[in-house]
Amino acid sequence: MTHGERARGGGGAPRPVPGGSFHEMWRELAPVGRHPGSGGYRRFAWTGADSECRAWFEEQARARGLVHEVDRNGNQWAWLGDPTAGDAVVTGSHLDSVPDGGAFDGPLGVVSSFAALDELRARGVEFGRPFAIVNFGDEEGARFGLACVGSRLTAGQLTVEQAHRLTDGDGITLPRAMEAAGYDPDAIGPDPERLGRIGAFVELHVEQGRTLDLSGDPVGIASAIWPHGRWRFDFRGEANHAGTTRLVDRRDPMLSYAETVLAARREAELAGAVATFGKIAVEPNGVNAIPSLVRGWLDSRAADQASLDAVVGGVEKAAREYAEAHGIDLDVVRESFTPVVEFDHALRDELARILGKDRDPGLTVPVLGTGAGHDAGILSGSIPTAMLFVRNPTGVSHSPAEYAAEDDCLAGVTALADVLEGLVRR
Ligand SMILES: [Zn+2]
Repeated sequence: MTHGERARGGGGAPRPVPGGSFHEMWRELAPVGRHPGSGGYRRFAWTGADSECRAWFEEQARARGLVHEVDRNGNQWAWLGDPTAGDAVVTGSHLDSVPDGGAFDGPLGVVSSFAALDELRARGVEFGRPFAIVNFGDEEGARFGLACVGSRLTAGQLTVEQAHRLTDGDGITLPRAMEAAGYDPDAIGPDPERLGRIGAFVELHVEQGRTLDLSGDPVGIASAIWPHGRWRFDFRGEANHAGTTRLVDRRDPMLSYAETVLAARREAELAGAVATFGKIAVEPNGVNAIPSLVRGWLDSRAADQASLDAVVGGVEKAAREYAEAHGIDLDVVRESFTPVVEFDHALRDELARILGKDRDPGLTVPVLGTGAGHDAGILSGSIPTAMLFVRNPTGVSHSPAEYAAEDDCLAGVTALADVLEGLVRR
């Protein structure tokens, strides 16, 4: 262990009963951080609700006789076997939430991990490799505005200096928030040694779309996380009186912006991608004033780089034509971009075999891409990583309406257990 790490679970007698069934674990976790008004979850990093979730994780680990450990970045690990032996098989997800998030995004992966371990033990599987369940800290970025802080720090994709500058809405910095929750903020930083001891990471997650619902499958395998980015479109015209300025005399940037929104929809449909103008700023923002500036943010994601380029290129070309037609100046700035994350092909193919023809020679499991980011995506730059998705009948996520049927959740547990059995036996 490095400075700042804490190991527990070595001393004291384990609880007489092992942690509960999937159903019992789900029921135990359900009220934690749930807002009575909205019915959604508010489990923000390093708050009381987060601490309760983390205490629950530790309890589940200890109930199963696993060694509980918190790493230097506040991620929780529950180990079976020697963590230092190398080539470990790790599964897990996160327990924090977006504001008024659903019950499944994150917790489904953690609860399924404990349930899958119980299943492996019930099957009498012998573990030929160390095994761990992980709860990554601050995945959603709800409090400090950056997603996947725990895994990013571990993988060295977020520097200590950047992490120290993260501040929440009340002006509390990440180090102070960690300290208040009982962790040592001076310990945070990259953890290549820890990652070097992991041979495979598998994250089970509720699907945040309807691909599995449409294909009629309870479980699927991730192929990749789509490349995605944000672009700012500044349309500049001329502010003037909404009552006295003749239509022909106007330079109204709202018109070019509105046409650009429609172009984004058209281009996304053509490319089989998604494109969204979900945020806008208007100056002077008066109900009786023609705007001088309309600033719109485009979020676009596509299955591959060429499709994303086609969408954004098409939107920008259309925007320039509309701007010119209305006498508007246009600037387009790329504010952020994340290239495609391809999950490890060998591991993905192994999962497809285990869940497909190993079960039934004619069976294939859907392999799907996703437009959402995950800890698994961050770690895939350092270690072989794969994801399983569980069907979400409405596709709704980051909302109290997020849902997965219990039968599908249990199919997810079985799938995860099958995959882990294949991996740990080696
Ligand atoms: Zn998630």
